[in-house]
Amino acid sequence: MKRSVEDLTPGELEGRRALVRVDYNVPLEDGAVADPRRIRASYPTLEALLDGGGRPVLCSHLGRPRGRVEEGSSLAPVATYLEEDFGRPVRFVGPADSDRARDASEELPEGRLLLLENTRFLPGETSNDADLGRRFARLGDLFVNDAFAASHRAHASVVGVTGYLRPAVAGLLVRREVEMLDAVRRSREHPFVLAVGGAKIGDKLRVLEAFLERADAILVGGAMANTFLAAAGKELGASRVESGEFDTARDLMERAGARIRLPEDLVVAPGPDAGDGRTVPVDDVPPDAMALDVGQRTRESFGAAVRECRTLFWNGPVGLFEHSPFEQGTLSMARAAADATEKGALTVVGGGDSARALAELGFQDAVTHLSTGGGAALEYLATGRLPGIDALDDSPS
Ligand code: ADP
Ligand code: MG
Repeated sequence: MKRSVEDLTPGELEGRRALVRVDYNVPLEDGAVADPRRIRASYPTLEALLDGGGRPVLCSHLGRPRGRVEEGSSLAPVATYLEEDFGRPVRFVGPADSDRARDASEELPEGRLLLLENTRFLPGETSNDADLGRRFARLGDLFVNDAFAASHRAHASVVGVTGYLRPAVAGLLVRREVEMLDAVRRSREHPFVLAVGGAKIGDKLRVLEAFLERADAILVGGAMANTFLAAAGKELGASRVESGEFDTARDLMERAGARIRLPEDLVVAPGPDAGDGRTVPVDDVPPDAMALDVGQRTRESFGAAVRECRTLFWNGPVGLFEHSPFEQGTLSMARAAADATEKGALTVVGGGDSARALAELGFQDAVTHLSTGGGAALEYLATGRLPGIDALDDSPS
Protein backbone atom coordinates (compact mmCIF):
# COMPACT_ATOMS: atom_id res chain seq x y z
CA MET A 1 0.00 0.00 0.00
CA LYS A 2 1.14 3.50 -0.84
CA ARG A 3 0.67 6.60 1.29
CA SER A 4 -1.92 9.05 0.02
CA VAL A 5 -2.71 12.71 0.71
CA GLU A 6 -5.04 11.52 3.47
CA ASP A 7 -2.08 10.04 5.35
CA LEU A 8 -0.13 13.30 5.45
CA THR A 9 0.36 14.71 8.96
CA PRO A 10 -0.63 18.34 9.60
CA GLY A 11 3.06 19.13 10.00
CA GLU A 12 3.82 17.70 6.55
CA LEU A 13 1.10 19.73 4.82
CA GLU A 14 0.22 22.95 6.60
CA GLY A 15 1.65 26.00 4.86
CA ARG A 16 3.73 23.79 2.59
CA ARG A 17 3.96 23.66 -1.18
CA ALA A 18 2.49 20.46 -2.62
CA LEU A 19 3.82 19.80 -6.12
CA VAL A 20 0.95 17.85 -7.70
CA ARG A 21 1.45 15.94 -10.95
CA VAL A 22 -2.04 16.07 -12.42
CA ASP A 23 -3.37 14.72 -15.70
CA TYR A 24 -4.68 17.77 -17.52
CA ASN A 25 -4.03 16.23 -20.93
CA VAL A 26 -7.42 17.41 -22.19
CA PRO A 27 -8.65 18.03 -25.73
CA LEU A 28 -8.63 21.72 -26.75
CA GLU A 29 -10.85 23.33 -29.37
CA ASP A 30 -10.42 26.93 -30.53
CA GLY A 31 -8.12 27.59 -27.61
CA ALA A 32 -10.56 26.36 -24.97
CA VAL A 33 -10.99 23.16 -23.00
CA ALA A 34 -13.29 20.86 -24.99
CA ASP A 35 -13.72 18.13 -22.37
CA PRO A 36 -13.01 19.04 -18.73
CA ARG A 37 -13.44 15.59 -17.18
CA ARG A 38 -9.75 15.11 -16.40
CA ILE A 39 -9.52 18.56 -14.81
CA ARG A 40 -12.55 17.93 -12.64
CA ALA A 41 -11.23 14.53 -11.58
CA SER A 42 -8.42 16.33 -9.72
CA TYR A 43 -10.73 18.43 -7.53
CA PRO A 44 -11.01 15.99 -4.58
CA THR A 45 -7.22 16.00 -4.23
CA LEU A 46 -7.02 19.78 -4.58
CA GLU A 47 -9.73 20.20 -1.94
CA ALA A 48 -7.96 17.82 0.43
CA LEU A 49 -4.68 19.69 0.05
CA LEU A 50 -6.28 23.13 0.47
CA ASP A 51 -8.32 21.92 3.47
CA GLY A 52 -5.09 20.85 5.13
CA GLY A 53 -3.51 24.25 4.53
CA GLY A 54 -1.29 23.04 1.68
CA ARG A 55 -0.36 25.25 -1.27
CA PRO A 56 -0.90 23.30 -4.53
CA VAL A 57 1.55 23.74 -7.40
CA LEU A 58 0.17 21.82 -10.38
CA CYS A 59 2.07 20.38 -13.32
CA SER A 60 0.91 18.30 -16.29
CA HIS A 61 1.67 17.42 -19.85
CA LEU A 62 -0.70 18.09 -22.74
CA GLY A 63 -0.34 16.43 -26.12
CA ARG A 64 3.03 15.33 -27.46
CA PRO A 65 5.21 18.41 -27.96
CA ARG A 66 8.47 16.37 -27.85
CA GLY A 67 10.61 18.66 -25.73
CA ARG A 68 9.84 21.90 -27.57
CA VAL A 69 7.38 24.73 -27.04
CA GLU A 70 4.38 24.06 -29.27
CA GLU A 71 1.80 26.79 -29.35
CA GLY A 72 -1.32 24.65 -29.56
CA SER A 73 -0.27 22.60 -26.54
CA SER A 74 -0.06 25.34 -23.92
CA LEU A 75 -1.89 24.72 -20.66
CA ALA A 76 -3.04 28.37 -20.59
CA PRO A 77 -6.65 27.42 -21.52
CA VAL A 78 -6.62 24.93 -18.66
CA ALA A 79 -5.61 27.68 -16.21
CA THR A 80 -8.55 29.78 -17.41
CA TYR A 81 -10.96 26.87 -17.10
CA LEU A 82 -9.66 25.83 -13.68
CA GLU A 83 -9.92 29.31 -12.20
CA GLU A 84 -13.51 29.68 -13.30
CA ASP A 85 -14.76 26.17 -12.62
CA PHE A 86 -12.87 25.37 -9.41
CA GLY A 87 -13.44 28.89 -8.13
CA ARG A 88 -9.95 29.76 -6.86
CA PRO A 89 -7.44 32.21 -8.30
CA VAL A 90 -4.97 30.37 -10.54
CA ARG A 91 -1.58 31.77 -11.46
CA PHE A 92 -0.04 30.30 -14.62
CA VAL A 93 3.72 30.30 -15.22
CA GLY A 94 6.26 28.73 -17.53
CA PRO A 95 8.65 27.18 -18.19
CA ALA A 96 7.87 24.59 -15.53
CA ASP A 97 11.49 24.14 -14.44
CA SER A 98 12.50 27.83 -14.34
CA ASP A 99 13.56 30.09 -11.48
CA ARG A 100 10.42 32.09 -12.22
CA ALA A 101 8.33 29.03 -11.51
CA ARG A 102 10.24 28.36 -8.30
CA ASP A 103 9.79 31.98 -7.16
CA ALA A 104 6.09 31.80 -7.99
CA SER A 105 5.74 28.64 -5.91
CA GLU A 106 7.42 30.32 -2.96
CA GLU A 107 5.21 33.40 -3.28
CA LEU A 108 1.99 31.40 -3.69
CA PRO A 109 -0.51 32.60 -1.07
CA GLU A 110 -2.66 30.08 0.79
CA GLY A 111 -5.99 29.31 -0.90
CA ARG A 112 -4.65 29.86 -4.40
CA LEU A 113 -3.30 27.55 -7.09
CA LEU A 114 -0.23 27.70 -9.26
CA LEU A 115 -0.31 25.91 -12.64
CA LEU A 116 2.93 25.34 -14.54
CA GLU A 117 3.32 25.22 -18.31
CA ASN A 118 3.33 21.89 -20.18
CA THR A 119 6.02 19.57 -18.78
CA ARG A 120 6.60 18.09 -22.24
CA PHE A 121 7.82 21.45 -23.53
CA LEU A 122 11.01 20.54 -21.66
CA PRO A 123 13.65 18.26 -23.12
CA GLY A 124 14.33 15.64 -20.49
CA GLU A 125 10.73 15.11 -19.39
CA THR A 126 10.09 11.94 -21.35
CA SER A 127 13.68 10.67 -20.97
CA ASN A 128 13.37 11.07 -17.17
CA ASP A 129 16.42 13.33 -17.05
CA ALA A 130 17.79 13.42 -13.49
CA ASP A 131 18.61 17.11 -13.57
CA LEU A 132 15.08 17.98 -14.68
CA GLY A 133 13.71 15.80 -11.87
CA ARG A 134 15.83 17.81 -9.43
CA ARG A 135 14.55 21.11 -10.86
CA PHE A 136 10.92 19.97 -10.55
CA ALA A 137 11.65 19.05 -6.92
CA ARG A 138 12.48 22.70 -6.14
CA LEU A 139 8.82 23.60 -6.80
CA GLY A 140 7.40 21.81 -3.78
CA ASP A 141 7.97 20.70 -0.20
CA LEU A 142 6.16 17.46 -0.93
CA PHE A 143 5.05 15.58 -4.04
CA VAL A 144 1.63 14.21 -4.95
CA ASN A 145 1.02 11.98 -7.95
CA ASP A 146 -2.59 12.29 -9.09
CA ALA A 147 -1.91 11.60 -12.76
CA PHE A 148 -2.99 7.97 -12.96
CA ALA A 149 -3.12 8.02 -16.77
CA ALA A 150 0.57 9.06 -16.90
CA SER A 151 1.78 6.67 -14.19
CA HIS A 152 2.93 3.98 -16.63
CA ARG A 153 5.50 6.45 -17.91
CA ALA A 154 8.85 6.86 -16.17
CA HIS A 155 8.99 10.58 -16.90
CA ALA A 156 10.77 13.31 -14.92
CA SER A 157 7.58 14.90 -13.54
CA VAL A 158 6.16 11.50 -12.56
CA VAL A 159 9.13 9.41 -11.44
CA GLY A 160 12.38 11.44 -11.57
CA VAL A 161 11.11 14.13 -9.21
CA THR A 162 10.49 11.58 -6.44
CA GLY A 163 14.23 10.95 -6.24
CA TYR A 164 14.61 14.44 -4.77
CA LEU A 165 11.31 15.19 -3.03
CA ARG A 166 9.68 13.46 -0.05
CA PRO A 167 7.04 12.85 1.15
CA ALA A 168 5.82 11.50 -2.18
CA VAL A 169 2.23 10.33 -1.92
CA ALA A 170 -0.71 9.30 -4.08
CA GLY A 171 -3.55 11.72 -4.83
CA LEU A 172 -7.11 10.59 -4.28
CA LEU A 173 -7.70 9.83 -7.95
CA VAL A 174 -4.65 7.59 -8.10
CA ARG A 175 -5.68 5.94 -4.85
CA ARG A 176 -9.17 5.17 -6.15
CA GLU A 177 -7.84 3.84 -9.46
CA VAL A 178 -5.45 1.52 -7.66
CA GLU A 179 -8.13 0.34 -5.24
CA MET A 180 -10.62 -0.45 -8.00
CA LEU A 181 -8.13 -2.12 -10.31
CA ASP A 182 -6.79 -4.13 -7.36
CA ALA A 183 -10.37 -5.21 -6.66
CA VAL A 184 -10.61 -6.61 -10.21
CA ARG A 185 -7.17 -8.23 -9.94
CA ARG A 186 -8.13 -9.96 -6.70
CA SER A 187 -11.74 -10.77 -7.51
CA ARG A 188 -12.63 -14.44 -7.42
CA GLU A 189 -16.33 -13.63 -7.83
CA HIS A 190 -17.64 -15.59 -10.80
CA PRO A 191 -18.86 -15.33 -13.47
CA PHE A 192 -15.84 -13.19 -14.31
CA VAL A 193 -16.38 -11.52 -17.68
CA LEU A 194 -13.68 -9.81 -19.71
CA ALA A 195 -15.01 -7.70 -22.58
CA VAL A 196 -12.64 -6.26 -25.13
CA GLY A 197 -13.25 -4.12 -28.18
CA GLY A 198 -11.54 -1.21 -29.85
CA ALA A 199 -8.96 -1.42 -32.49
CA LYS A 200 -5.57 -2.82 -31.56
CA ILE A 201 -4.96 -6.30 -30.15
CA GLY A 202 -1.44 -5.33 -29.12
CA ASP A 203 -2.78 -2.84 -26.53
CA LYS A 204 -4.98 -5.46 -24.88
CA LEU A 205 -2.79 -8.50 -25.17
CA ARG A 206 -1.33 -8.35 -21.68
CA VAL A 207 -4.75 -8.05 -20.07
CA LEU A 208 -6.07 -10.90 -22.20
CA GLU A 209 -3.10 -12.99 -21.07
CA ALA A 210 -3.54 -11.98 -17.42
CA PHE A 211 -7.19 -13.04 -17.27
CA LEU A 212 -7.21 -15.83 -19.84
CA GLU A 213 -7.46 -18.53 -17.17
CA ARG A 214 -9.74 -16.77 -14.73
CA ALA A 215 -12.33 -15.36 -17.14
CA ASP A 216 -15.47 -17.44 -17.61
CA ALA A 217 -16.28 -15.50 -20.75
CA ILE A 218 -14.12 -13.30 -22.97
CA LEU A 219 -16.37 -11.19 -25.17
CA VAL A 220 -14.63 -9.77 -28.22
CA GLY A 221 -16.18 -6.92 -30.20
CA GLY A 222 -15.13 -3.89 -32.23
CA ALA A 223 -12.44 -3.98 -34.84
CA MET A 224 -10.65 -6.52 -32.61
CA ALA A 225 -13.39 -9.02 -33.39
CA ASN A 226 -12.83 -8.48 -37.11
CA THR A 227 -9.27 -9.67 -36.66
CA PHE A 228 -10.34 -12.74 -34.68
CA LEU A 229 -13.05 -13.60 -37.22
CA ALA A 230 -10.67 -13.15 -40.14
CA ALA A 231 -8.06 -15.27 -38.36
CA ALA A 232 -10.74 -17.96 -38.05
CA GLY A 233 -11.25 -17.86 -41.82
CA LYS A 234 -14.20 -15.48 -42.28
CA GLU A 235 -14.30 -12.95 -45.11
CA LEU A 236 -14.50 -9.47 -43.58
CA GLY A 237 -14.77 -7.41 -46.79
CA ALA A 238 -13.34 -3.91 -46.40
CA SER A 239 -13.42 -4.03 -42.59
CA ARG A 240 -10.57 -2.90 -40.40
CA VAL A 241 -8.50 -6.03 -39.78
CA GLU A 242 -5.00 -6.43 -38.31
CA SER A 243 -3.65 -9.19 -40.51
CA GLY A 244 -0.32 -9.12 -38.68
CA GLU A 245 -2.08 -10.36 -35.54
CA PHE A 246 -3.72 -13.51 -36.94
CA ASP A 247 -1.27 -15.82 -35.17
CA THR A 248 -1.84 -14.08 -31.84
CA ALA A 249 -5.61 -14.27 -32.30
CA ARG A 250 -5.48 -17.97 -33.25
CA ASP A 251 -3.29 -18.75 -30.26
CA LEU A 252 -5.69 -16.99 -27.87
CA MET A 253 -8.70 -18.77 -29.39
CA GLU A 254 -6.99 -22.10 -29.04
CA ARG A 255 -6.07 -21.56 -25.41
CA ALA A 256 -9.39 -20.05 -24.29
CA GLY A 257 -11.56 -22.41 -26.34
CA ALA A 258 -15.29 -21.81 -26.09
CA ARG A 259 -14.80 -19.13 -23.45
CA ILE A 260 -13.79 -16.69 -26.18
CA ARG A 261 -16.97 -15.42 -27.78
CA LEU A 262 -16.95 -13.68 -31.12
CA PRO A 263 -19.86 -11.81 -32.76
CA GLU A 264 -22.51 -13.87 -34.58
CA ASP A 265 -23.71 -10.90 -36.59
CA LEU A 266 -22.30 -7.53 -37.62
CA VAL A 267 -23.61 -4.17 -38.74
CA VAL A 268 -22.03 -3.37 -42.09
CA ALA A 269 -21.96 -0.20 -44.18
CA PRO A 270 -20.01 1.22 -47.13
CA GLY A 271 -18.08 3.46 -44.70
CA PRO A 272 -18.12 5.23 -41.33
CA ASP A 273 -20.21 8.16 -42.62
CA ALA A 274 -22.91 6.03 -44.21
CA GLY A 275 -25.34 7.12 -41.49
CA ASP A 276 -26.99 3.73 -41.65
CA GLY A 277 -26.01 0.11 -41.74
CA ARG A 278 -27.50 -3.34 -42.21
CA THR A 279 -27.06 -6.41 -40.10
CA VAL A 280 -25.57 -9.55 -41.61
CA PRO A 281 -24.39 -12.89 -40.18
CA VAL A 282 -20.58 -13.04 -39.85
CA ASP A 283 -20.48 -15.36 -42.87
CA ASP A 284 -22.14 -12.82 -45.17
CA VAL A 285 -20.05 -9.66 -45.04
CA PRO A 286 -20.11 -8.26 -48.61
CA PRO A 287 -16.68 -7.73 -50.20
CA ASP A 288 -16.97 -3.93 -50.32
CA ALA A 289 -18.58 -3.44 -46.87
CA MET A 290 -17.07 -2.55 -43.53
CA ALA A 291 -18.16 -4.16 -40.26
CA LEU A 292 -18.66 -1.22 -37.90
CA ASP A 293 -20.66 -2.62 -34.98
CA VAL A 294 -21.90 -5.85 -33.47
CA GLY A 295 -25.37 -6.95 -34.57
CA GLN A 296 -28.57 -7.42 -32.59
CA ARG A 297 -28.12 -11.12 -31.82
CA THR A 298 -24.60 -10.47 -30.58
CA ARG A 299 -25.82 -7.56 -28.45
CA GLU A 300 -28.31 -9.90 -26.84
CA SER A 301 -25.87 -12.71 -26.12
CA PHE A 302 -23.05 -10.40 -24.97
CA GLY A 303 -25.59 -8.44 -22.91
CA ALA A 304 -26.85 -11.61 -21.24
CA ALA A 305 -23.30 -12.64 -20.28
CA VAL A 306 -22.59 -9.21 -18.83
CA ARG A 307 -25.91 -9.06 -16.95
CA GLU A 308 -25.22 -12.25 -15.06
CA CYS A 309 -21.58 -11.53 -14.23
CA ARG A 310 -20.23 -10.85 -10.73
CA THR A 311 -17.01 -9.27 -12.01
CA LEU A 312 -16.57 -7.31 -15.26
CA PHE A 313 -13.62 -5.62 -16.81
CA TRP A 314 -14.41 -3.98 -20.11
CA ASN A 315 -11.95 -2.17 -22.35
CA GLY A 316 -12.69 -0.90 -25.83
CA PRO A 317 -15.93 0.12 -27.56
CA VAL A 318 -17.53 -2.75 -29.49
CA GLY A 319 -18.25 -0.53 -32.49
CA LEU A 320 -17.32 2.71 -34.21
CA PHE A 321 -19.22 4.65 -31.54
CA GLU A 322 -18.09 8.08 -32.78
CA HIS A 323 -20.28 7.64 -35.89
CA SER A 324 -24.00 7.14 -35.40
CA PRO A 325 -25.67 4.64 -35.51
CA PHE A 326 -22.63 2.47 -34.84
CA GLU A 327 -22.73 3.27 -31.10
CA GLN A 328 -25.68 0.94 -30.60
CA GLY A 329 -23.64 -2.14 -29.69
CA THR A 330 -21.59 -0.17 -27.18
CA LEU A 331 -24.80 1.31 -25.78
CA SER A 332 -26.31 -2.11 -25.21
CA MET A 333 -23.08 -3.27 -23.50
CA ALA A 334 -23.24 -0.16 -21.28
CA ARG A 335 -26.85 -0.93 -20.36
CA ALA A 336 -25.95 -4.51 -19.46
CA ALA A 337 -22.99 -3.32 -17.37
CA ALA A 338 -25.29 -0.88 -15.55
CA ASP A 339 -27.76 -3.69 -14.83
CA ALA A 340 -25.00 -5.93 -13.48
CA THR A 341 -23.76 -3.08 -11.29
CA GLU A 342 -27.23 -2.60 -9.89
CA LYS A 343 -27.32 -6.29 -8.98
CA GLY A 344 -24.10 -5.88 -7.02
CA ALA A 345 -21.43 -6.91 -9.52
CA LEU A 346 -18.02 -5.25 -9.55
CA THR A 347 -17.88 -3.51 -12.92
CA VAL A 348 -14.80 -1.61 -14.06
CA VAL A 349 -14.45 0.01 -17.46
CA GLY A 350 -11.11 1.34 -18.63
CA GLY A 351 -9.58 2.99 -21.68
CA GLY A 352 -9.63 6.51 -23.06
CA ASP A 353 -12.18 5.86 -25.79
CA SER A 354 -14.23 3.53 -23.60
CA ALA A 355 -14.50 6.22 -20.92
CA ARG A 356 -15.48 8.77 -23.55
CA ALA A 357 -18.08 6.42 -25.02
CA LEU A 358 -19.68 5.73 -21.63
CA ALA A 359 -19.70 9.42 -20.72
CA GLU A 360 -21.25 10.39 -24.05
CA LEU A 361 -23.90 7.70 -23.69
CA GLY A 362 -24.68 8.90 -20.15
CA PHE A 363 -23.36 5.86 -18.30
CA GLN A 364 -20.35 7.34 -16.53
CA ASP A 365 -21.89 6.84 -13.09
CA ALA A 366 -23.63 3.55 -13.86
CA VAL A 367 -20.61 1.28 -13.37
CA THR A 368 -18.57 0.68 -10.22
CA HIS A 369 -15.59 2.50 -11.65
CA LEU A 370 -14.75 4.24 -14.90
CA SER A 371 -10.98 4.35 -15.18
CA THR A 372 -9.42 7.51 -16.57
CA GLY A 373 -6.23 5.73 -17.53
CA GLY A 374 -6.00 3.86 -20.82
CA GLY A 375 -2.54 2.31 -21.10
CA ALA A 376 -1.92 2.78 -17.38
CA ALA A 377 -5.06 0.86 -16.41
CA LEU A 378 -4.22 -2.01 -18.75
CA GLU A 379 -0.65 -2.23 -17.51
CA TYR A 380 -1.67 -2.07 -13.85
CA LEU A 381 -4.32 -4.76 -14.35
CA ALA A 382 -1.85 -7.05 -16.03
CA THR A 383 1.09 -6.53 -13.66
CA GLY A 384 -0.13 -4.80 -10.48
CA ARG A 385 2.64 -2.22 -10.86
CA LEU A 386 3.33 1.14 -12.48
CA PRO A 387 6.56 3.16 -12.33
CA GLY A 388 4.76 6.29 -11.10
CA ILE A 389 3.15 4.38 -8.25
CA ASP A 390 6.13 2.25 -7.27
CA ALA A 391 8.03 5.52 -6.76
CA LEU A 392 5.71 6.73 -3.97
CA ASP A 393 6.14 6.29 -0.19
CA ASP A 394 4.95 2.99 1.24
CA SER A 395 2.36 3.31 3.98
CA PRO A 396 3.77 2.16 7.34
CA SER A 397 1.21 -0.58 8.01
P1 ADP B 1 -9.72 2.45 -25.54
O1 ADP B 1 -9.19 3.83 -25.81
O2 ADP B 1 -10.95 2.47 -24.71
O3 ADP B 1 -8.66 1.52 -25.02
P2 ADP B 1 -9.29 1.64 -28.27
O4 ADP B 1 -8.41 2.83 -28.44
O5 ADP B 1 -8.68 0.32 -28.28
O6 ADP B 1 -10.18 1.84 -26.95
O7 ADP B 1 -10.37 1.59 -29.44
C1 ADP B 1 -11.30 2.57 -29.67
C2 ADP B 1 -11.48 2.81 -31.14
O8 ADP B 1 -11.83 1.63 -31.83
C3 ADP B 1 -12.60 3.80 -31.32
O9 ADP B 1 -12.12 4.91 -32.03
C4 ADP B 1 -13.62 3.00 -32.11
O10 ADP B 1 -14.33 3.77 -33.03
C5 ADP B 1 -12.76 1.99 -32.81
N1 ADP B 1 -13.58 0.87 -33.30
C6 ADP B 1 -14.37 0.05 -32.57
N2 ADP B 1 -14.99 -0.83 -33.38
C7 ADP B 1 -14.59 -0.58 -34.64
C8 ADP B 1 -14.85 -1.16 -35.91
N3 ADP B 1 -15.68 -2.19 -36.04
N4 ADP B 1 -14.24 -0.63 -36.99
C9 ADP B 1 -13.38 0.40 -36.86
N5 ADP B 1 -13.08 0.98 -35.70
C10 ADP B 1 -13.68 0.50 -34.60
MG1 MG C 1 -7.96 4.60 -27.42
